[in-house]
Amino acid sequence: MKVIEHIENGKGKTQFSFEILPPLKGKNIQTIFENIDPLMEFKPPFIDVTYHREEFIYNKRDSGYYEKIAIRKRPGTVGICAAIMHRYKVDAVPHLLCGGFTKNETENALIDLNFLNIKNVLALRGDARPFEKKFIPEEFGNTYAVDLVRQIKKMNEGYYLDSNIVNGNSTDFCIGVAGYPEKHFEAPNFDMDLHYLKEKIDAGGDYIVTQMFFDNKHYFDFVEKCRAVGINVPIIPGLKPITKAYQLQSIPRNFYVDIPNDLAKAVGSAKDAAAVKEIGIEWCIQQSKELKANNVPCLHYYMMGDSKTIKRIVESIF
Ligand code: FAD
Repeated sequence: MKVIEHIENGKGKTQFSFEILPPLKGKNIQTIFENIDPLMEFKPPFIDVTYHREEFIYNKRDSGYYEKIAIRKRPGTVGICAAIMHRYKVDAVPHLLCGGFTKNETENALIDLNFLNIKNVLALRGDARPFEKKFIPEEFGNTYAVDLVRQIKKMNEGYYLDSNIVNGNSTDFCIGVAGYPEKHFEAPNFDMDLHYLKEKIDAGGDYIVTQMFFDNKHYFDFVEKCRAVGINVPIIPGLKPITKAYQLQSIPRNFYVDIPNDLAKAVGSAKDAAAVKEIGIEWCIQQSKELKANNVPCLHYYMMGDSKTIKRIVESIF
């Protein structure tokens, strides 16, 4: 089933979903199942699986020179989606990027997803690779997420890149897109970011999942501003608990979001690692409770391989 159908079926009741990362190359899928199993009692209607581009690493050769090798550390997004759907009978949402894909490769990936009866995709641009200063699309690839949304939408209408295909099978993907309550870091200002978000929805985006935030005011303001410009699709809040002290720096650095003063102070003065975790969990519980009281469609947790923490939060909410 599509994510928007799950939301409609929820009839205004807040649902629970989460996002997982594929295991590191060389690890077994069992590690994924072990993480998902404890959360299944809360009946998530869908589970997202992230996509990770290739990175370059440098291997020292016998000659002393370094060899640059491209590797994907976490391959397997589509395979994991299929395995999740098969094992748990819940819908999986693969993340699909512009970065690293030509439009033809995207089309082929979508054909595979369609054959696997995967009805959902989260359409994203992706980030610049670590050694690049800005995002560089592939030659004949999609530049912005909106271009990817348009490509998927075209396939939903039966159009393929190869114009020789007539009466092509129409796919029926539900398309999610990303939204940034605190603005995407590259956007010159919030209004322009919102303008481009609206473009993604007008192009065929069915719902929005937000970047993580630690102050619900950011989410509520964001929803209000979206509605004011005519973005009327469901907006799913993305949540992540702080569990380690170093995240006070790494989260703002990597995700360009603010940590509220009260949370930063509490984490900063916690007596040990266990106390930090308790503070982060409690903060996330309070955020979740307030969002649920405001009837958000779904609470979507960035699990990052730590289902025990997410379970603690979710069992005090659902
Ligand atoms: P876009 O919507 O294309 O926006 C990127 C920037 O370009 C923004 O600043 C926007 O304002 C601007 N812009 C958009 N359209 C135009 C235009 N037509 N002209 C000029 N400027 C424009 N990354 C991964 O690698 N793998 C994942 O699995 C993954 N999952 C994610 C899940 C969620 C819920 C979120 C919020 C992010 C995720 N990301 C993931 C990170 C994401 O790829 C980055 O945040 C990326 O920098 C932007 O992606 P986007 O789809 O929002 O891009």
